[in-house]
Amino acid sequence: MVSRFPNPWDVFIVGGGPGGLATAIAARRHGLSVVVADGAVPPIDKPCGEGLMPDGAEALRNLGVTIPESEGYPFRGIRFLSGGAKAEAEFPRGTAYGMRRTNLHRIMSEHAAACGVRLLWQSAVTGLHPEGALVAGELVRARWVVGADGTGSRVRSWAKLDQHEVGTAANKNLRFAFQRHYRVAPWTDFMELHWGRHCQIYATPVSREEVCVAMISRNQKLRLEDALQEFPELRAHLEDAEHASSERGAITVMRRLRRVYRDRTVLVGDASGGVDAITGEGLCLTFREAALLGDCLATGDFARYQKGHRALIRRPALMARMMLFMAKHSRLRQRTMQVFQSSPRSFAGMLAMHVGEGSTRDHISNGISLGWELLKA
Ligand SMILES: Cc1cc2nc3c(=O)[nH]c(=O)nc-3n(C[C@H](O)[C@H](O)[C@H](O)COP(=O)(O)OP(=O)(O)OC[C@H]3O[C@@H](n4cnc5c(N)ncnc54)[C@H](O)[C@@H]3O)c2cc1C
Repeated sequence: MVSRFPNPWDVFIVGGGPGGLATAIAARRHGLSVVVADGAVPPIDKPCGEGLMPDGAEALRNLGVTIPESEGYPFRGIRFLSGGAKAEAEFPRGTAYGMRRTNLHRIMSEHAAACGVRLLWQSAVTGLHPEGALVAGELVRARWVVGADGTGSRVRSWAKLDQHEVGTAANKNLRFAFQRHYRVAPWTDFMELHWGRHCQIYATPVSREEVCVAMISRNQKLRLEDALQEFPELRAHLEDAEHASSERGAITVMRRLRRVYRDRTVLVGDASGGVDAITGEGLCLTFREAALLGDCLATGDFARYQKGHRALIRRPALMARMMLFMAKHSRLRQRTMQVFQSSPRSFAGMLAMHVGEGSTRDHISNGISLGWELLKA
């Protein structure tokens, strides 16, 4: 068979989601030739909370991709609601966007194509090869292969990087998510996180007439409509709203890998580990990893990428552990919520830390005063 790609590429990317496209854009900025293969048909959808935090929007802008006003719904901050208590804070800086994943994918893939990235859709990658990778059995030669194929990455297992998982096995950190869009005018310009006994529900305004609702729990059988029974306030907003999409499921997992590369193969985005979806920081982390990987592909210095990758995941992982602890311990959560409600500055401080704003000193002093208030509560 005559190959469609007789000449080797610099970079072959498995997966054309946010991680693959961001890496492709970053690599093109260094003049590398890049091909991306994805098994799906664009624009690619994926169950998601669909909140792009200000730090994520900034990371995307640093890659040269801006979100046009018409494609997203700007929101000002985060609101927590739990057992009758409410706490909210605005982001200290920047704009966050609620936006359909299909919009994000279209914007990113158009930008990648304009940068000269070769995009192969409906092209599932079936294996690695000493000279590149196999697309539906056909060899595509490349100097580097990037696994950007998401949480269930096959590249990760083909390259035997699964063996380098740190700490608790990922399947113990597994949670199940269900998401759907409702046709309703947003009742708020905050992203809401509703905490329940056994699940959490995100509500993100994604346009002037649509809200994305995503529920996360450890219970594989729990579905959105049943979960909503526990949240009368949210249910009231959605009661008469048409469903604008069908309910779709996904998994989310906390995973950390000691190694994110082997020989010529390197991982990025959810394939390289990640944080629980409750943080809403997955896209930001992915874009930052992609920017760093672009630099390291140019020099072939993957040891630098691995070191930087470890540093990038530290803060979101800490936030995820704190939020999962709150999810698990309802009495502590209620006490924390009371403190957040009565002391909006402490919630604002937590939000600043969440989106990477403020100094370490600010975070420590906020942590101490929160701890003190919790002891008094
Ligand atoms: C329920 C839920 C809610 C979330 N909410 C938020 C949120 O509000 N904000 C936020 O920032 N993050 C959120 N996240 C996290 C975010 O979705 C991920 O971090 C992000 O999608 C990672 O992008 P990725 O490109 O690494 O992986 P993916 O988006 O999973 O993309 C992987 C791509 O690889 C392709 N692929 C897989 N295997 C192959 C193969 N063999 N050959 C070719 N292609 C292949 C797939 O088709 C897919 O397009 C959420 C996640 C979940 C599960």
